[in-house]
Amino acid sequence: MKQTCGESHAGHPLADAEDVLIVGGGPAGLTAAQYLARFRHRVLVVDAGQPRAALIPKSHNCPGFPEGISGPDLLDRLGRHASLYGATLMRGQVFSLAAGEGGFDAETSIGAIRARKVFLSTGIVDTTPELPRLAEAIAAGVVRLCPVCDGYEVIDRKIAVVGQGDRALHEAIFLSRFTPHVTMLGTHASDFSTSTRRAAGERGIVIRHTLDRLSPAADGCAAILQDGATCRFDAVYAALGCKVRSHLALAVGARCCAEGYVTVDEHQQTSVAGMYAIGDVVKALNQIAVAFGQAAIAASHAHRELTA
Ligand SMILES: Cc1cc2nc3c(=O)[nH]c(=O)nc-3n(C[C@H](O)[C@H](O)[C@H](O)COP(=O)(O)OP(=O)(O)OC[C@H]3O[C@@H](n4cnc5c(N)ncnc54)[C@H](O)[C@@H]3O)c2cc1C
Repeated sequence: MKQTCGESHAGHPLADAEDVLIVGGGPAGLTAAQYLARFRHRVLVVDAGQPRAALIPKSHNCPGFPEGISGPDLLDRLGRHASLYGATLMRGQVFSLAAGEGGFDAETSIGAIRARKVFLSTGIVDTTPELPRLAEAIAAGVVRLCPVCDGYEVIDRKIAVVGQGDRALHEAIFLSRFTPHVTMLGTHASDFSTSTRRAAGERGIVIRHTLDRLSPAADGCAAILQDGATCRFDAVYAALGCKVRSHLALAVGARCCAEGYVTVDEHQQTSVAGMYAIGDVVKALNQIAVAFGQAAIAASHAHRELTA
């Protein structure tokens, strides 16, 4: 976030209560900040600077950008938009949250913060395959993490899905709508049950194992199997799941589902009064458009509550 510099916050009375503290400055948090600032609330975004959105080489499904937009460009625009209306954006880590009388107390790397409401927009972290120069491979679109985002970009390309069981199967089936050249790669023979193998076979999806390693290049990725065979793919999708960044929610007593996503109601309120959750940290389609929508819903509800 370009605007998240300590200087812009010089003299900001951190000890004073904010109307809303937003933890996480990805698409969800920044959109909520823009809405709340335009509702004329005092909003502080504290962001640790590792948004999933920053990994997007170029999104082609982000509404309003028909020619596509990179994640960093989108984040820059969202940050400027929120700042323009008075939201304060700061780089920092929120270590802990405690619900108290009339609001929340946060311990952060930039000091203690009090806020009447808290928005959690802390996102998720994808589980990625171990391979050299992973960041470069993601930037080149050789390793991909989101078939909903960019299945269209692999039409008729030769692709592999790395993962296990039903998760990998569902992703492979989803992708088989875009290309007939789909291979599922497992790291163990036991990664795929008989029924998974049958379902894959019925759709023309090839299963290969045992994967030894992936070797990305500028124009594709080689998969080297333990028997020495090498298969080349235009792109490899990781279907390895993710870690939900919900530890703050859990620590403050908010309900989360078994997978770790924060549970919310129709206004994006968590089970802790005054705390909202938006974006990838909530179980929904992990998409920018969804983050925008959830941010708008939560911000409008919080505004009503703050002004009631
Ligand atoms: C390679 C790739 C391509 C993608 N392509 C698309 C696409 O084309 N279209 C699309 O719709 N979606 C795409 N996505 C998904 C999209 O990036 C996410 O849905 C979106 O970023 C979710 O926004 P968010 O604000 O919830 O989380 P994030 O963008 O992950 O932001 C969360 C922020 O919270 C911060 N944070 C976490 N914990 C703390 C803490 N304790 N204190 C302070 N800050 C904290 C993190 O550092 C991070 O900056 C893609 C994702 C990947 C990985």
